[in-house]
Amino acid sequence: MSGQLRIRWAIAPKIAPRPLVNCNRCGGIRPYRCSGRFRVNANGKRIDAWLIYRCTDCDNSWNRTIFERCNRRDIEPALLAALESNDPSLVRRHAFDAVALRSRIGRIEEFPDVTIRKELLDGRPECATALWLALRLDAATPLRLDRLLAGELGISRSRLQVWEERRLLTVVSDGARALRRPARGGMAIRIDLSGEADRDAIVSAACG
Ligand SMILES: [Zn+2]
Repeated sequence: MSGQLRIRWAIAPKIAPRPLVNCNRCGGIRPYRCSGRFRVNANGKRIDAWLIYRCTDCDNSWNRTIFERCNRRDIEPALLAALESNDPSLVRRHAFDAVALRSRIGRIEEFPDVTIRKELLDGRPECATALWLALRLDAATPLRLDRLLAGELGISRSRLQVWEERRLLTVVSDGARALRRPARGGMAIRIDLSGEADRDAIVSAACG
């Protein structure tokens, strides 16, 4: 469609979820932050691996089990090497897996902070009348889609709501209420701006 601007937003959550641990040194529940390091214990053929967290108050450590008493033959050498070298992308994959962390510890803190890299894929900003925003996420975020869009486009959430009701905004391949749910990778949002007086400002914000 002519007048449509296609933009990719590559979104990287900034702060990993923090387990709420009963810290025996502080004597109470404290949030623990990811240290960015694994601990691997190779005892003969059996291997254990943990991701290390530290108390935000006293630095006491808490070990999150990645696997326990695994047979060495069942572990890919590349995975073992990544664990032993604290490979940052492997740390990130585990650290941001809020579902697995919650199932392990029960209570966690989550943070909506993200960094966003915006890349124009197709179209000319000066004659854009519609936006197509494709979201990429390198890890899960609790940030709601409407908060993300409102913050990045410089508009109110109530205006987004009105656009959605008038079908000027559609979240492609996601059902109703997608605006109120966390942003996810693979989402695409289409916004018709043809009737908006401040179109140029919105387009410029969308392009970053
Ligand atoms: Zn503590």
